[in-house]
Amino acid sequence: MSFQNPVFIPGPTNMPEAIRKACDMPTIDHRSPLFGQILHPARAGVQEVLKSETAEVFIFPSTGTGGWETALTNTLSAGDKVLAARNGMFSHRWIDMCTRHGLEVQVVEAGWGDGIPTETFAEILAADKGHTIKVVLATHNETATGVKSDIAAVRRALDDAGHPAMLFVDGVSSIGSMDFRFDEWGVDVAVTGSQKGFMLPAGLAIVGFSGKALEAQSTATLPRTFFDIADMAKGYDNNAYPYTPAVGLMNGLRLACETLLTEGLDNVFDRHHRIASGVRRAVDAWGLELCAASPNLYSDTVSAIKTPEGFNATDIVTRAADSYGVAFGVGLGEVAGKVFRIGHLGSMTDVMALSGIATAEMCMVDLGLDIKLGSGVAAAQEYYRGTLGATLKAVA
Ligand SMILES: *Cc1c(COP(=O)(O)O)cnc(C)c1O
Repeated sequence: MSFQNPVFIPGPTNMPEAIRKACDMPTIDHRSPLFGQILHPARAGVQEVLKSETAEVFIFPSTGTGGWETALTNTLSAGDKVLAARNGMFSHRWIDMCTRHGLEVQVVEAGWGDGIPTETFAEILAADKGHTIKVVLATHNETATGVKSDIAAVRRALDDAGHPAMLFVDGVSSIGSMDFRFDEWGVDVAVTGSQKGFMLPAGLAIVGFSGKALEAQSTATLPRTFFDIADMAKGYDNNAYPYTPAVGLMNGLRLACETLLTEGLDNVFDRHHRIASGVRRAVDAWGLELCAASPNLYSDTVSAIKTPEGFNATDIVTRAADSYGVAFGVGLGEVAGKVFRIGHLGSMTDVMALSGIATAEMCMVDLGLDIKLGSGVAAAQEYYRGTLGATLKAVA
């Protein structure tokens, strides 16, 4: 593996030098006011990235998975019912976590490549007259399949049914890269981690809680210690933590938020859309298809690309690592061996994406797939040349 090449996995993502350096700092006393100068701007920055005026932001030394656990254990009790769709590895793992915590999960099975079936959600919510469903879980961007779901439509399903269930959204591979609207969508808990849109190493679970989700603490009896947001909130009041914070990572997070907000969130989202669109042009030129079933589901942070029947897609990932020192993502779960993934989120440009597309092309030709060298690169080049305005806006 080469340290010179960018990675094309959908997290951890490439780190801008300045953000990497911000994580590398001398030891400070985390119970001193100096820590407050990192903690408070980091929390305020995350709130703004979530497009929220009110979300209470908590940052744990953990990963996105710890964020799921924070969401569940602070708001629910064993036996509580939650509604979730399974359409990929990450929604599957969140469901698995619920089951292990003794929650009753009503699972709506969806195709791996489909989005959240919001019409089915609407029917289930409308039929739940007794309001037994306490939470609806939604994975905004299924990183395993490159599928984006419509969170606003999930909110509408709740509202149309007049259903009071809370809405928890896994935004681990969307927040900071794709449009996410905590307040407008009526999200009650948003979950993410440091190593995707925030362009940091893994090591932080980042969550935003609505007022309603905060209130749910008073009745929630699931055991929680490390992830207790009440303990965390008490610490924040004193510029501190209930235990030792990951100070360097939080300093990186502070700068990552500043970087995203300086570029402008809408410019960040446009940049991701443009880069992703170029990758999709390449996939099309190769004569291949995305795992995502239709264009409205295409993710702007990761593309899962189906390879021909009988071909092991994982071989592309192995070849790229062994021969070219480049990392792509393998297929997970039901789509293992059937897709390979190009991650194109975080610190990414059109020029970087072209190198990934070129490398994928070399690997596919090396492995005997019927693909013409340069075909995908040329298609992406044409698209990038023709949409330069967007980049200039992002850089300005
Ligand atoms: C990466 C990811 C996770 C898991 O996050 P970790 O930080 O690895 O615990 C959860 N959900 C989605 C959608 C992801 O992409």
